[in-house]
Amino acid sequence: MTSASPRILLVLAGPSGGGKTTVCRRIVASRPDVRFSVSATTRPPRPGERDGADYRFLSRDSFDALIESDGLLEWAEVHGERYGTPREALVRASEDGSHMLLDIDVQGARQVREREPDSVLVFLLPPTAEVLVKRLRQRGSEDDEKVRRRLRTALSELEAVREFDYVVVNDDLDLTVSAVEAILDAEVHRTERHREWLLRHATELGEALESDFAGSHI
Ligand code: ADP
Ligand code: 5GP
Repeated sequence: MTSASPRILLVLAGPSGGGKTTVCRRIVASRPDVRFSVSATTRPPRPGERDGADYRFLSRDSFDALIESDGLLEWAEVHGERYGTPREALVRASEDGSHMLLDIDVQGARQVREREPDSVLVFLLPPTAEVLVKRLRQRGSEDDEKVRRRLRTALSELEAVREFDYVVVNDDLDLTVSAVEAILDAEVHRTERHREWLLRHATELGEALESDFAGSHI
C-alpha cells in the first residue's frame, strides 16, 4: 500500500531576468508530471512567444472580464501590465494529478500562499547585480527604459525573499534546474501531505505486527 502522491503547486518568483521562464521551460520539457501554468496577460507578445503556450495574450477588457468572473487564482499589475493565473489550468492539473509550476511575481506569490497554503514558494536570485543586468539586456526584449523599470521592481522584490520557503541562486542553469526539481521531489514526501494515509497505515501496521506477535510468527 502506498500513499497517493500529492500534487504540488510550486511558485517560482524573483526579479525579472532572474531566469524563471528559462528554468520553467527546462523543467516542463523533462518532466511529464509537471504542467506549466500559462498566465493571462495584457502585455504584447515578444518575438517568438506563442499565444496559449507562453501566455494567453488578452486585451484589457478580456482580462478584466476574467477577474470579474473569478477566473483567476491571483492577478497583479507588474511593470504597468496585468498578469494573472487562470484557475482553469489548475483544475485540469488537479484532475490528472500533475504538479503545477507558476512563474509569477511577488505580489502574485503572496496571493497564492493565502489561497493555497500548501503551495511551495521558491525565490530565484541572480548571482550578482551585474549578471542580472547583463541577462536582462541580452534577452533584448525591452528597451532601456523598460529594463530600468524592471530593475527598480527587482529592488523592491528582493525584500520579499524572506517570505519564501526556498531560495535558489541561478548561476549555473543545470544546477538551478536540479535544485528546483529536488525541492519539488522532497515536498512530495512531506509528512503533513500524508497525514490521513499515515494515520491509517500506522494503525494497520501496528495491528499486523500485534497479530504477528500473538501468532508467534516472530
Ligand atoms: P525571467 O523569466 O525571470 O524574466 P528569463 O528566463 O527570461 O528570466 O532569463 C533572462 C535571460 O537570462 C534569458 O536570456 C535567459 O536565456 C538567460 N538566463 C537564464 N538563466 C541563465 C543562466 N543560469 N545562465 C545564463 N543565462 C541565463
Ligand atoms: P514578463 O513580462 O517578463 O514575461 O513577466 C513580467 C513579470 O510578470 C515576471 O515577474 C513574471 O513572473 C510575472 N508574471 C507572469 N505571469 C504572472 C501571473 O500570472 N501573475 C503574476 N502575479 N505575475 C506574473
